[in-house]
Parts: sequence; C-alpha cells; structure tokens
Amino acid sequence: MAGVTRIRVPAWLRLPWRRWRIAGRVDTADELPERLTRRGVMLVGPQAKPTWAVFDCPCRQRHRVMLNLDVSRRPRWQVTNLAPLTLAPSVDAITATRRCHFWVRDGRIRWV
Ligand SMILES: [Zn+2]
Repeated sequence: MAGVTRIRVPAWLRLPWRRWRIAGRVDTADELPERLTRRGVMLVGPQAKPTWAVFDCPCRQRHRVMLNLDVSRRPRWQVTNLAPLTLAPSVDAITATRRCHFWVRDGRIRWV
C-alpha cells in the first residue's frame, strides 16, 4: 500500500471484531439476551468472580454453551487471557444432535 500513511494502532484495538472476546457481564443468567453478540462471551456473576462464561457455539447451530468458572464446582474452566481471549481447558459441548469440541485460544476457535 504505497503512499498510505500507516497509523500505529495498539494491537488490542485491532483484534476485537474478528476474534472472540468478552462482550460484557450480567449479574444473573436471566439477564442474558436471547441471541448473543457474535464471537462474544458473556460473563455471569459478580465482577470480581464471575461464575459462568456463556456464549453461542461457533458451529452453525449456535446453541448456547455455559462454562462453569466457579472453583468449587467441576468441571471448571478458566479465562486464562482476556485479550485476545483464551479459555482452558477445551470446550466439549454435547447436545442431542451433535458434539462440538474446540479450543478458544488467542481469540480464535480451534476445532479438535
Ligand atoms: Zn455447536
């Protein structure tokens, strides 16, 4: 792109929309909207210690996935990095019709 002045933008500002991210937080699961933001993970619970990470599955059906973040319950997931978003361990969502097994790493989905 000759002749175009490149403006330096911090890396975290360039990521958001193509990558998975924390889209917001609500106090209780009842407050979650019917359809969540694309590639957006919602946290449910207190700001300092959210208890669930909720998002619509990256597969075509976009069924809802709820991951427990509470240390006192198993299985338990961790948000190991906020931006770009990384969750551990992998997500293995089994519904009546399908199984969706993937990692969320560096804001991207990696199917297993
Ligand atoms: Zn799925």
